[in-house]
Amino acid sequence: MSNKWPDESVDHPPDLRLLRQLWPFARPYRRAFAGCLLVLAVSFGVELAGPWILRSAIDGPLSARDLPRADRVAALGWHAAGFGALLLLGTWLGWVYGRLTAWNGQRVVRDVRSRLFAHVLAAGPSFHERNPAGKLTTRVTSDVENLNELISTGVLQSAFDLLKILGVLAALFLLDVRLAVFTVAATPLVIVLSLLFRDRAQKAYSRVRVKLGLQNAWTAEVVGGTRITRAFGRQDHVLREYAARNHDTAEGWRETVFHFSLFFSLVDLALRFTTIGMLWFGGSAVLEGSLAPGQFVQFWLYFGMLSAPIKELGEKYNVLQAAFASAERIVQILGEPVQPKPPTAPRTAPRRGAASIRFEHVGFAYEPTRPVLADVDFEARPGERVAVVGPSGAGKSTLLMLVSRLRDVSSGRVLVDGIDVREWDLSSLRHRVGVVSQDLFLFTGTVLDNVRLFDPAVDEARAWRALELVGIADFVRALPGGIHARVEERGATFSQGERQLLSFARALAVEPDVLVLDEATASIDSAAEERLQRALQVALQGRTALVVAHRLSTVRDADRILVLEHGRVVESGSHRELVERRGSYHRMLQALATSGPGTETGPDTARQAPVAP
Ligand code: ATP
Repeated sequence: MSNKWPDESVDHPPDLRLLRQLWPFARPYRRAFAGCLLVLAVSFGVELAGPWILRSAIDGPLSARDLPRADRVAALGWHAAGFGALLLLGTWLGWVYGRLTAWNGQRVVRDVRSRLFAHVLAAGPSFHERNPAGKLTTRVTSDVENLNELISTGVLQSAFDLLKILGVLAALFLLDVRLAVFTVAATPLVIVLSLLFRDRAQKAYSRVRVKLGLQNAWTAEVVGGTRITRAFGRQDHVLREYAARNHDTAEGWRETVFHFSLFFSLVDLALRFTTIGMLWFGGSAVLEGSLAPGQFVQFWLYFGMLSAPIKELGEKYNVLQAAFASAERIVQILGEPVQPKPPTAPRTAPRRGAASIRFEHVGFAYEPTRPVLADVDFEARPGERVAVVGPSGAGKSTLLMLVSRLRDVSSGRVLVDGIDVREWDLSSLRHRVGVVSQDLFLFTGTVLDNVRLFDPAVDEARAWRALELVGIADFVRALPGGIHARVEERGATFSQGERQLLSFARALAVEPDVLVLDEATASIDSAAEERLQRALQVALQGRTALVVAHRLSTVRDADRILVLEHGRVVESGSHRELVERRGSYHRMLQALATSGPGTETGPDTARQAPVAP
């Protein structure tokens, strides 16, 4: 499967232009973000004030031996109280900052997540084919979480760390130029170390992300396919494979951790060596009398404030890079076109019972070079039942998708009640056209949830009516919890036949005028088959229907049969007419009569013998 998204790997530096694209999400909360910046700035001031108080205590009451002891103690007390107040203020500001940033981040993330989810739902089918569900789930969950990192702390904090380094350096120069020059001399070494580290750690980190991504995807797939691996007795192989992948990921982490710890240790070493020099030069300046002891302590403490932001910046780089990569993927998804909307004001035909379906010279291709349908032209008049038969891969299911706009035609038009489906209001169209696909998907939830499928208009009474209509109401009543019985694991606890009936009920619950039905090919026992046929008869009553038929009874009861081969209608007429014509349809029936059960190439005569006009 081709994939145009950048994968988990990140091999380019953060693209700051992304921030501009994300700005609309942060804009509504800009005041709160400005508040965060203000709090950060004040906290920094408070942080700088601490060493200043200490200096003033050392150079003031502690050194003033000529003052009376009581005065010195009182002054020291004031300093201590000031220091305590600063500590309290700092703690409070930290708390305010933490709350503000986390809340801001969460609000932005909530908005992004909603937009992204809505976009994923609205995106066209080809988008979903290119991007498997697992991948999109990662986008909506963990990529958005990474974005949180970027928004709530990442950008602000990193910018602030940078400012902090500059601010501290400025303070050092203000205090003592000579000592500051000496200190700054060590900085290039730290910068070189950072760059060296950054490159290596970045690569190692990127490799870990790829490995982790692959391991997660693999795990999700294997867990989903547990039944198969168990049935084939392959658990041991799976475990071994998992252990190997796990080991690989852990090794990747080891490498990353190695680079990180090396970086931290080297930065520490460089700073510690600097402190030795500082002690010597600073101490000498104090002895000479050109630097007051309190000033020296203040310098020392300011210098100590440098290491945290330097380390943080080094550490954050990777987190930020991953967050930027996530942001990039999110922005790409948001840029993906959604299914085209009706060009003008959407139209809705007045509801008047069964509707007509008309295909006008319809052509369709999933890929431009491989047409799947060509020049399909027919009409199902209101209340008519048209069956579509043909070999596997002829394009039958595709044809059905065009009616409810699960796909859009490549050429020609599909009209429901005389209106091009592309001009219909999509929601009204889909309420008018009920769909039963081969994919009998049941969601985790209750039976009622599955029948109403998130549509609040379908109340419990209506759901029961639909269940009664298709003849599965008794079965549902007998379930523990009745209509509120839980459906787990995509309906794995229901039989094929039950799932088919529930799918019918779901389609009928919206009381559609048109039914497009892709008859499931799965074999079910004869009792279930009978129930299904009865349900089908009821479902189709008074409705216009387009049915991809695999059962002879369905075909025989149709008003018209279209025989589709290689995307073209090669024959059309009633069962009797087509049998008499002795063409493709007749050959299909004959082949089926001799090939026995399990064949899915047309009306399944194996269950409905004998074949007769
Ligand atoms: P069956 O009876 O087996 O369900 P069908 O007649 O309903 O077959 P379709 O499912 O409509 O056939 O498929 C028609 C052709 O389109 C097939 O060749 C299939 O491989 C191709 N096709 C179906 N879905 C896609 C897709 N999403 N992308 C590309 N090609 C597709």
